[in-house]
Amino acid sequence: MTEVAVASNAAEMVLADPPDVVVTDLWMPGISGLQLCRLVRAEPATAHVPVVLLTASDTRRARFWARHAGATAYVTKSEIDRLIDLLDDVTSSPPTPTHVPPAAHPQIVARGNVQERLSQLLDASLFESTIAGEVRALAQKAEELEHVFADLAAIASDVADYRWFALATEAESATHAHHTRLFIHTHPDLREMAEREARDAFEVPPPLERRKDGESDAHVIADQRASAAEWSTPPLLLPVQFGTSVMGRIALAPNRRGASHDDRHLLALLAAELGGPMRMVALVAEARKLASTDALTGLLNRRAFVECLDKARAASEKDFFPMSFLLLDVDHFKKVNDGLGHEAGDAVLQGIARVLVSMARKSDLVARWGGEEFVIALTRTAETGARIAAERVRRAIAETKYLLPGGQSHGATASIGLASAESERWNLEELISRADKAMYSAKHRGRNRVEIA
Ligand code: GH3
Ligand code: MG
Ligand code: MG
Repeated sequence: MTEVAVASNAAEMVLADPPDVVVTDLWMPGISGLQLCRLVRAEPATAHVPVVLLTASDTRRARFWARHAGATAYVTKSEIDRLIDLLDDVTSSPPTPTHVPPAAHPQIVARGNVQERLSQLLDASLFESTIAGEVRALAQKAEELEHVFADLAAIASDVADYRWFALATEAESATHAHHTRLFIHTHPDLREMAEREARDAFEVPPPLERRKDGESDAHVIADQRASAAEWSTPPLLLPVQFGTSVMGRIALAPNRRGASHDDRHLLALLAAELGGPMRMVALVAEARKLASTDALTGLLNRRAFVECLDKARAASEKDFFPMSFLLLDVDHFKKVNDGLGHEAGDAVLQGIARVLVSMARKSDLVARWGGEEFVIALTRTAETGARIAAERVRRAIAETKYLLPGGQSHGATASIGLASAESERWNLEELISRADKAMYSAKHRGRNRVEIA
């Protein structure tokens, strides 16, 4: 037997004594059907109650809001006959609540609290969309992950009280095929503890030895926006996804005994929105890498080489350092192409690139200058040292057997021109041009040799 209550103070009634189904006009005086619908969904005691919205006209906007408020069904007044069938349907199979699972002991909202509860709900929606908008806007700063994290931590620390907040991301680098980058925001007093806990949470072991250049895989921001208190609350952790691919993970160690609903909610919100900006960072990095590397050998191209040198020089304006250049040109390379095919020529060039990279020190820059010419910048190396390096490179190239696509191997030699500058006022073009002349004189003097400008 169905008991039907026609309610003018619908919200109070529904919350005080949850019915089997709520049928409401989209527009009513006092509280709108949409608001009622949200309220019913958000309250643990009524989250499972189906709501059917009635409206005079079927507009796009009405449909949009009905869907977003969590209505179970939506009926226009002209198809009111459908309502009866619908009521049978929805009451026989109540929907699983989408937002809040029913609590074990549902709390009934007291009468008169409806307006207050409703404004809390609207505040919560506004909070969500504001945070989501701010995180999404980070995509515009997608140059460096460091900046994205700094801004993310600013957002998080504005609204949450935590000991530390962290991001872990898989990144590719030149030296390690894959390594995890860690970003941590914490209080200055908790720096070491935060890094240890974050590593535990993400299962990222510390590097075997601190790198000498001060570069670490952990980037830590330590300031007072994070909290100093020491609860040993286990951190919350969520994956950050873009579509189906995992872009990274974020974690938050709340500053209270046990994580709150707000902490979980915030982390879920950040995780849901961060995928886009992180994907953007990856795309920008990929595009930059494509623009700066030579496709055949993977070495820097000429433009990126010049840029890197300019940067290195700008970074050490006061610091005098000598510089040497090696310009290499493969000998009789046309014969390789003509005799064995262009693909064999490509394989030899790739092999020579590998030899050069294996010979170079970390501070050296190796690039493909063009065609079958390569250049190596030996920073902080004067002529005496550069001669030895050049000779070692020449010999390594000549002693290597280059594997060709057909399975056979082939030898190669190169002529090397060396030019050194002993003043910080060295000019790149002038150095290259001297190295080039020296290289040609190596060709004239029989190839497979080093000549000094
Ligand atoms: P030399 O000892 O005087 O340098 O003789 P060489 O045959 O190397 O002379 P040259 O510098 O004129 O020839 C360079 C050749 O390198 C011509 C060009 O087709 C070839 N080459 C340039 N870039 C590539 C490439 O990416 N792949 C292949 N397979 N060949 C290339
Ligand atoms: Mg050439
Ligand atoms: Mg050549």
